[in-house]
Amino acid sequence: MSEIRTTLEHGWIQVKVPLPFSLKWVNSYIVPETEGVTIIDPGLGTSGAKELWANTLAEEGLGWDDIKRIVLTHQHPDHYGLAGYMQERSGAPVYMTERSHAYTQRLWGEGSRFPEALRRLYVLHGMPGEIMNRIEDNLDGFAALVSPQPKVEYIAAGQRIQLGQREWELIDAPGHAYGALCFYQPDIRWMICGDQVLPRITPNVSVVPDEEEDPLETFLASLKELRAYDVAYALPGHRDPFTDFKGRIDELIAHHARRLDKMAELLKQEPGTAFALCETLFGSRLRDNPHNLRFAMSETLAHLYFLEREGRIRSRESGAALLYESI
Ligand SMILES: [Zn+2]
Ligand SMILES: [Zn+2]
Repeated sequence: MSEIRTTLEHGWIQVKVPLPFSLKWVNSYIVPETEGVTIIDPGLGTSGAKELWANTLAEEGLGWDDIKRIVLTHQHPDHYGLAGYMQERSGAPVYMTERSHAYTQRLWGEGSRFPEALRRLYVLHGMPGEIMNRIEDNLDGFAALVSPQPKVEYIAAGQRIQLGQREWELIDAPGHAYGALCFYQPDIRWMICGDQVLPRITPNVSVVPDEEEDPLETFLASLKELRAYDVAYALPGHRDPFTDFKGRIDELIAHHARRLDKMAELLKQEPGTAFALCETLFGSRLRDNPHNLRFAMSETLAHLYFLEREGRIRSRESGAALLYESI
């Protein structure tokens, strides 16, 4: 990880908040306001991230009460996790969409039934129970990393928001996360894109229980919509800000087209469950990394659902599992 803090144009600061995953860091942005600052996506609630914020604020000459607002691009724990902690110290309102907030309550609210629903989904798609146990243990660990949870105020796509003394458009950007927002500023042509468009990493597109079953279709449609914006500078949730927004979108669209073709081809050779296909694509060593395995499995499902909707493959029951085959 290079510099932890980078000053961008207009006095914005990119802060690389550490993550205990292969992603390494999540970008938080400190936005200077007439009075105090706005924080975009504070990070995951680890001790390392808390320490980083204490140092960052001190070195920038800021106190907790200089944080006037906390704005979230989406609900994933690496972005949302520290919002409640930061709110407790600053008293700042936390803004996110209603749909993103509903997701946080489904996953980390009292009596969450999410792990159970995920188990049903994965076992139906061929994952052995003992591997699912490891995923469930890994999921359990997240509740602590998003606690305390914030009191939230809702913002919605189509609205405008003032950030850094400029007006930004809020754009619905579903697929990676339902309820996610991108923020666009037409005068400086900046796009805050959360995880919807990332440089060098393909944003995860996952089938998630109790969300729509077409995340990949939704994601690709959203990318095409975002592609129409005139963007000079994109501020992503991971890696570094970048300039070729349209070019990156084209690469992501091409990546998924290739992946879909490859999966259709594999199923032509041999029918298989989603889990078997996931291991063919991502390797069985992922069994030792339940966090990444969950992403890989849900991403495999997203592609299979897409292919099935397109009529290129079909599924049939085989014992207790679903088997996919090409048509
Ligand atoms: Zn995300
Ligand atoms: Zn993220």
